[in-house]
Amino acid sequence: MTQIFDNPADFADEALDGFVAANRGYVARVDGGVVRSTEVPTGQVALVIGGGSGHYPAFAGLVGPGLAAASACGNMFASPAAGQVYRVAKAANAGGGVLLSYGNYAGDVLHFGQAQLRLNAEGIETRTVLVTDDIASAPVDQIEKRRGIAGDLTVFKVAGAAAEAGLNLDEVERLAIKTNHRTRSLGVAFDGCTLPGASEPLFHVPAGQMSLGLGIHGEPGISEHPMPTASELAQLLVSRLLADKPDDAGDRVVAIVNGLGTVKYDELFLLFGKIEKLLNAAGLTVVEPECGELVTSLDMSGLSLTLLWLDDEIEQYWAAPADTPAYRKGNLAPRARRELADAEDTMAEESEKATAASADLGRLAAAVLAQVRDVVVEHEEELGNLDAIAGDGDHGIGMRRGVDAALAAGEQNATAGASVERVLTQAGEAWSERAGGTSGALWGSAVIAAGLALGNRDSYPAGDAAAAVTAFTDAITELGKAELGDKTMVDALLPFRDAFREASDGGASVGSALATAASAATEAARLTADLRPLKGRARPLAEKSLGHPDPGAVSFALIAERIATYIQSELAGSEAATSDMAAAAGNGAQK
Ligand code: ADP
Ligand code: MG
Repeated sequence: MTQIFDNPADFADEALDGFVAANRGYVARVDGGVVRSTEVPTGQVALVIGGGSGHYPAFAGLVGPGLAAASACGNMFASPAAGQVYRVAKAANAGGGVLLSYGNYAGDVLHFGQAQLRLNAEGIETRTVLVTDDIASAPVDQIEKRRGIAGDLTVFKVAGAAAEAGLNLDEVERLAIKTNHRTRSLGVAFDGCTLPGASEPLFHVPAGQMSLGLGIHGEPGISEHPMPTASELAQLLVSRLLADKPDDAGDRVVAIVNGLGTVKYDELFLLFGKIEKLLNAAGLTVVEPECGELVTSLDMSGLSLTLLWLDDEIEQYWAAPADTPAYRKGNLAPRARRELADAEDTMAEESEKATAASADLGRLAAAVLAQVRDVVVEHEEELGNLDAIAGDGDHGIGMRRGVDAALAAGEQNATAGASVERVLTQAGEAWSERAGGTSGALWGSAVIAAGLALGNRDSYPAGDAAAAVTAFTDAITELGKAELGDKTMVDALLPFRDAFREASDGGASVGSALATAASAATEAARLTADLRPLKGRARPLAEKSLGHPDPGAVSFALIAERIATYIQSELAGSEAATSDMAAAAGNGAQK
């Protein structure tokens, strides 16, 4: 149970502030995460790591000479937003380019991927190496689908040491890829973990049982076993990892026994002793192992075993010194403090002259966001529970955080008389920034796209609504790349778009086209219960998800229904068969 906080919503930010206060010799706070506070040689490759908070020492604890240059830090278990990753990487860049490395989770891939595009577009050469060590999350022939757990450490350590040695971006990237390909992990849990402020753990393991292959965000395990003895557990972990060993495996391995949060060090050591004997018996030499908390999952009762099969080159970088708040090895010459530019280089906003029609529509958009917020709040818990079945349980919280921020930004702009374009682009930015997670990235960019489609024009004929719906949809499919049948929100979104278009082409008003489309989305969301997830965090637990609808599809349908009801009531009375959006806007503005 996580109990020390004022307000659970501020937990991750305040914990990070305190972490920096306690480690100023190593790290400085920047908007979105932390960077080294000591000098970095010019031209050194910047290894930028990151992910959700709640995994300490991953990720901020691994920033320092010989390891990461910076860490982008998201909310609890939620990816940092693209803007955060971008700002952190920019602060870390020392002229040698940036290597982004993080665990393979859909939300992180979307946000870090967007940041990479932005950095490259600005001439900061940026590459990505995903960590995919968790053998429970996909078979070895689909290694690129595996998620990243404690194997983060081996990849970060080798890449960080290579950067420290002055290797260029190509070489650092190559070594990171090779290390990832030679790293395998498997975890077990004896009980779940609880997000700050939550009254219940994300999941429970039945008493006397052990869950095998769980994820570090509380994604439940792939199978449950009676609680083993330490010797049986050591045997299980070692045999599963050895069965999955890489093709070019040699006989020297790094072994990491990683505590996930509440397993005592004594217990980890006891297990490590048994694991080492088994590895030796299998003809392997254990080189510079680790045993302790390296990638945790809040207060989860559980642990994992990671093996990295070495070659000479990787061994050299694994053994090299590193000096970070949480991970120290060997000796490095002391580093001088460096001057960091003010982190608050917020971009000055250009002023705009909103047209009357666009400002009206902007006020309607803010009123719609208020409706969206209400429906999300009403269903927050239900959406979280649905996501906990096969995902990580954060869909309710994530949507709530996103929509709260979007509404605040939208209302602020609408009250100031901004165009609908500005209201929605600012709302979308705020959504993505605050929500984290896959759905945050998708909703954020979709709201932005709708705003750009509506623009700042003199009038808004009815056809503009269909254009906004199309832009909203395209943003999600382009960014997430999910297809119909993958069991994501796209399964509700595409039927919504098609029904909306058909109804508007047939002459229906915006309100009634929305109502028809929302019904289509609701029905389609219901039908996702029959699908197996092929994208996102729920994919490794496809079987558990069968029989339950996709959380993102359900939240989309709920939101669509609420917007339809609202717009219809706003238009009531004012609407002829083909009313235009400006009529709706006029009504909305009177409220
Ligand atoms: P996370 O998966 O990062 O924890 P959320 O729990 O907030 O984020 O959102 C989960 C939802 O995101 C899923 O139910 C699914 O509808 C949606 N989703 C996941 N991946 C994709 C994708 N590639 N494209 C579209 N939607 C996706
Ligand atoms: Mg989730």
